Amino acid sequence: MISVAIDGPSGAGKSTLARRVAAELGFLYVDTGAMYRAIGLYASRRGADLKDESAVGALLPGIRLRLEYQEDGQHIYLNDEDVTAAVRAESMGMAASAVSGHACVRAFLLQVQRDMAETHNVLMDGRDIGTVVLPNATVKVFLTASVEARAERRYKECLQKKEDTTLEKVRADLEQRDWQDTHRTEAPLRRADDAVLLDTSAMDFEESYQALLDTVRRGAGI
Ligand code: C5P
Repeated sequence: MISVAIDGPSGAGKSTLARRVAAELGFLYVDTGAMYRAIGLYASRRGADLKDESAVGALLPGIRLRLEYQEDGQHIYLNDEDVTAAVRAESMGMAASAVSGHACVRAFLLQVQRDMAETHNVLMDGRDIGTVVLPNATVKVFLTASVEARAERRYKECLQKKEDTTLEKVRADLEQRDWQDTHRTEAPLRRADDAVLLDTSAMDFEESYQALLDTVRRGAGI
């Protein structure tokens, strides 16, 4: 099996780019962020203190996550409810970042993610794929961009989704998530030593797509 690990900070365009590269190569695209977001959504709905590891851990037995692949891509089901759209809200990014710091949450998702890579050619994106989930991935990419470029892109997405926010707020949220994701003790976001660094700050979407596709093809010899 071929596995491609794509890590990087929030708003670097990982999921949009990875989804398209996976479609082009006929690989399964696995958006691990959606899994953390679904746990954040469940814990928020239950009114749990997201920072409290034992409170979040106590909820895990009540969570069943399922990924399904439909015409329009990956759908995520939380206890049989399709929460694909609900988990994309900006607030769920923060909720995901809070619960993802807990060891019990990471352990809960680790095996599911590894199992997918054992049975399919995958392109998996997240924060710890090249470092923890798939340390022997065929190709590892660390996809990043300046905080200005990422905030601009995220803000445009929010406008399209008609979310009521400002560029300053989007940027502050990104910086806070970057800090949380890189400073946690459990599987912090960092570039794996053998990951190819791809900085898309000065690239538009098409250029970023080509650069990622070329990197993956070259690395996997396909
Ligand atoms: O990639 P996305 O923005 O959907 O991820 C939401 C949050 O989930 C991240 O900010 C991060 O805290 C967490 N996450 C993680 N490990 C992953 C994927 C996401 O900790 N593999």
